[in-house]
Amino acid sequence: MKSHVLHRNSLTPPPRAVSGDGIYITDAQGKRYLDACGGAAVSCLGHSDPAVRAAMHAQIDQIAYAHSGFFSSDAMEELADDLVAHAPEGIAKAYFVSGGSEAIEASLKMARQYFLEIGQPDRKYVIARRQSYHGNTLGALSVGGNMWRRQQFEPLLINASHIAPCYAYRDQLAGETDVAYGLRVANELEAAILELGAGSVAAFVAEPVVGATSGAVAPVPGYFKRIREICDQYGVLLILDEVMCGMGRTGTLHAIEQEGISGDLQTIAKGLGAGYQPIGAVLVSQKIDDAIASGSGFFQHGHTYQGHATACAAALAAQRTIRERDLLTNVVKQGELLADGLHDRFGQHPFVGDIRGRGLFRGVELVADRETKEVFDPARKINAKIKKAAFARGLMAYPMGGTIDGVRGDHVLFAPPFIVTEDDVAKIIDLFELAMNNVFTAEG
Ligand code: PLP
Repeated sequence: MKSHVLHRNSLTPPPRAVSGDGIYITDAQGKRYLDACGGAAVSCLGHSDPAVRAAMHAQIDQIAYAHSGFFSSDAMEELADDLVAHAPEGIAKAYFVSGGSEAIEASLKMARQYFLEIGQPDRKYVIARRQSYHGNTLGALSVGGNMWRRQQFEPLLINASHIAPCYAYRDQLAGETDVAYGLRVANELEAAILELGAGSVAAFVAEPVVGATSGAVAPVPGYFKRIREICDQYGVLLILDEVMCGMGRTGTLHAIEQEGISGDLQTIAKGLGAGYQPIGAVLVSQKIDDAIASGSGFFQHGHTYQGHATACAAALAAQRTIRERDLLTNVVKQGELLADGLHDRFGQHPFVGDIRGRGLFRGVELVADRETKEVFDPARKINAKIKKAAFARGLMAYPMGGTIDGVRGDHVLFAPPFIVTEDDVAKIIDLFELAMNNVFTAEG
């Protein structure tokens, strides 16, 4: 059947999803798919959560949407109360948008406006990390350090500087301790600030646990403490991007809780609305809120659908459900089973270089050579082949190419819903093994 949708891949339009039950999606042909990645780490409650559906129905029956330039809503206010009550230290407000890229755009503008409000107009530069992804709108793409995603849009991007990621598997030197490695790469931030001019840097942006570009890469101990110290020393704002790794995905509500620091601004999305509605937010620290409130009193930014009442109602129900059903305990438990299962089955696989992650956020890095960690030739499109082979067997996994020294590498990301059982985890591993065997037997 001809499609008039401009799909991402116009050569092979995807099947139509017609229904969801638990962690499964069924397509128009009746085929079922086990969603082992929550789409893109989104659907943390699966696809048929009754409490979220009921909350959305109730909201729509009252009022679906009222423009935020005129009205607030109970759903928006209660969601903000809920998020602030459970936020990392120092967070005072929530600013609602419709997704991750919008959250990053808003946080970049808020950082800039903060410095205007406090009389430091020279602070305009943003520093981020190589091999990072912060969204696809132009500002978010500018701070992202993924060469493949940036390349063709380079002339449209704003200026941003990039330092090394914290990516021990690739960059830790032989004999270097975790702590020494973490300090070495964190100190690149200080060097970049000094090079740009200490009074001219507005913000540093980083994902606490890196998702899409590297496949669940957690920082080494002490890395983020040193980053926080450097930001404080030079008056630079720390923007933590928890769009993918946040809202319970790594076993704590916020991934940064495991590092013992907090950011000045923190972006959240994906798991916030669990996929039932498009919603994201910027968690804003007291000092930034105070500066704007006691300065111009007006954040000069906005979108038509920000604070959408039905989206807020869905997100509030999703967050309450996660707490009421104690699902973070399951994230930790099933996450360990998933990690153990992946290690057992693929720990010695000739093309698996690293297995890593936290909670139900696990990555498998694929390499052409385990000893040298050489990446596969990007022309072989290994990650796309794994995705296709898994999908054919009814498994949704999230294989992507990262950027390793400008060359794409391959990894597979698992981010199943928080409701997975031990049997589901075993099935994910079995289906993944079938897909791996299929690809590597065919590839030789
Ligand atoms: N930031 C991170 C860390 C992400 O992983 C993503 C999306 O994958 C984004 C931002 C952009 O979010 P969205 O696709 O909702 O615009």
